[in-house]
Formats: sequence, C-alpha cells, structure tokens
Amino acid sequence: MHRTERLYRLQCTDSEFDRLTRRLQEVEASLGETEELRQAHLDLQTVEQELHRLQARLRDLELENASLADKLEANEQRLYGGTVRNPKELTSLQEENEYLRRRKSQFEDVILEVMIEVEESQEQAHSARAHLAQVEERWRAEQERLTAERAELQASLAALSEKRQALRAAIPPDDLETYDDLRRRKGGQAVALLQEGTCQGCRVSLPSSKAQQVRQGDVLVFCGSCGRILYTR
Ligand SMILES: [Zn+2]
Repeated sequence: MHRTERLYRLQCTDSEFDRLTRRLQEVEASLGETEELRQAHLDLQTVEQELHRLQARLRDLELENASLADKLEANEQRLYGGTVRNPKELTSLQEENEYLRRRKSQFEDVILEVMIEVEESQEQAHSARAHLAQVEERWRAEQERLTAERAELQASLAALSEKRQALRAAIPPDDLETYDDLRRRKGGQAVALLQEGTCQGCRVSLPSSKAQQVRQGDVLVFCGSCGRILYTR
C-alpha cells in the first residue's frame, strides 16, 4: 500500500468515526422526555384541574340546594300545617316561601349550567387523555428505536476505533504528526481526494504536474490552495 493510500484510509475511518460520533450525540440528546410529551402531560393536568374545580362547585351547589329544599319543606309545613293562624305570621311565611322558591329555581338554573360545563370538561379531559396516550405510544416506539440505534452506533464506533489503531500502527510517526496537525486545522479533513485535477477539499483545480506527483503516491503532495494532503485512487 502506498504512503498516501494509508493516510487516505485513515482519513476515511476518522471521518466515519466523526460522523457516527455526531449522530450518537444527536441520538443521546433525543433520548428522554420530549417537549411534545411534556406538553401533552401538562395539557391533561390543566383540563383535569378545571374538571375537579367544576365538580367541586357542582357538589357545593347541590349541597346548598338540598339545604334550601329542607328550609322550603319546613316552611311549607308551617305554612300549610294549620298550626299558624296569625295572619301577619302567615303573610311573613308566605313571603318567605316565595323567596325560597325563587332562590331554589335560580339555584337549579345554575346547577344545570354547571352540569353542562362539567360534561364539556369531561369531554376535554377524555380527549386530552387520548392525545397523551397517542403521544406516549409514539414516544415509546421512538425511544426504542433510538436506544437500538445508540447500541449500533456504540458497536460501530468501537470497531472503527480498533480499525483506526491498526491503520495508525502502520503509518510512520512523521506522517501521523502531519496528518493529525492538518485534521486539527482543517475541520477534521487532512486528506483530500484529487478528482479530474480538482482538489475535493477546496474545489480548486491543480496543475497537471501536481496530479502526476499525486498519482505516484510515494511522497506527500499538498494542495496549493487548502494545504491538505492529496490522494488519488
Ligand atoms: Zn485543496
């Protein structure tokens, strides 16, 4: 294997390693609770709180209505029971009776309104629960997929790491130093392919004499424009 071919193969391995490392970071960032799931939980919590508030209000209203019914019953027993004969007292009982009836009728209207609100709120809670279940199911499937992908990436990275070590062991230290230095300075790409006289690292055309040197592969030839080591297949 030519000197530059070894470096080129190391470059391919390193580039693949970098690519998979970036993907692994993305995968790890996507694991765990998502914004969509958090929002679905929050929405359900909000509608359930409102439902509980309405249900408590309805219970209070029904209790008050029952106590009003008791008062009305007591009033009517006195009013029609025949024990009260004083006309003034009877008039006052009559007035109280009318007042209690009016109150009760108003109460019943409010109870009806709140019952409708409770029903609507129950529907909202139902659809929020259904939505959450749907989001959770999708989320769980996605988490499973991501967890499997993470394991695959970790295995591939371990294999690439071994391959990289084997490749490096066969490259002279001076070349490795040049390569590592260029990788650091050139965004991870130290070796560029020369295709049809053009450096694929910077897309600049090179003189044919240079292409000739590159083809021999025994000396390191650098792109005059971007400075990368050139390699041609
Ligand atoms: Zn170049």
